[in-house]
Amino acid sequence: MKTLTRVAEMQAASAGLRGAGKRVGFVPTMGALHEGHLALVRRAKQETDVAVASIFVNPAQFGPGEDYLNYPRDLARDSDLLQREGAEVLFAPPAEDIYPAGFQTCAEVGPVSAPLEGEFRPGHFRGVATVVLKLFHIVQPHRAYFGRKDAQQCVVVSRLVRDLNLAVEIVVCPVVREPDGLAMSSRNAYLNEEERRAATVLYKSLCRARELMQGGERRAAVIADEMRRHIEQEPQARIDYAAVVDAETLLPVEEVRGRVLVPLAVWIGRARLIDNLLVEEKDGRFSFQL
Ligand code: AMP
Repeated sequence: MKTLTRVAEMQAASAGLRGAGKRVGFVPTMGALHEGHLALVRRAKQETDVAVASIFVNPAQFGPGEDYLNYPRDLARDSDLLQREGAEVLFAPPAEDIYPAGFQTCAEVGPVSAPLEGEFRPGHFRGVATVVLKLFHIVQPHRAYFGRKDAQQCVVVSRLVRDLNLAVEIVVCPVVREPDGLAMSSRNAYLNEEERRAATVLYKSLCRARELMQGGERRAAVIADEMRRHIEQEPQARIDYAAVVDAETLLPVEEVRGRVLVPLAVWIGRARLIDNLLVEEKDGRFSFQL
């Protein structure tokens, strides 16, 4: 595996790969890698010729007072994991290379950035869209792999790609979970033993929502209220949102019809965790991705 730290080196490498007719698969990450990230690398390896992973803790997507400075970083360990997974290139640029002095241009995706994460983390998706657009220009991938754990991010990035005619195909991959259902996340490292147990409340409340729909419940308000009631029973948990929204527009729905997303953001101790359930209803039959 080649490790490249400079933007110019990565640009030269991608030009070389494209010139040689290789199909490039790209997995952007912020590091502190876990099985969720590695599943994306595996998928990129299966579907393309060269898997490029990036590690960049993007300051622009953290708000003031968020965990940018404390975000877990371990490049040596991450590099080892990527090497073992068979990634061909690791791109790990310093922040000064991505945001040089005088930087003043941003990508702003419209209404799909506004609710949910956008409401609780103002400016977050401007930071995400900007860095993803820059990374796509630098790495020049044919395909880019994202996890559905960050469902709104997938919607925002897909919108960015369509709206700006970017020649990259976005592949959305399933949520990878711990054996007890907790979605894997670099932020799970913030949890102590008791909080780690409490954190399963996110998954359990999504299971509860699924159970209600399997029982024929379609009313969004009933489903969201039941999830909130369930989460509030966990004393360690503090809800930012628990919603039932259209999977494309991310706007609230009254009833579960077509493709619907059930996203959650819940604080457990100092960790802000997100998770979601994707529901597809067709002719009165539901299918679920959890
Ligand atoms: P991050 O390092 O948190 O920015 O995540 C990098 C990529 O990995 C994003 O596309 C995430 O959605 C994805 N990812 C993170 N955790 C998981 C997970 N548990 N399952 C699937 N994908 C994940």
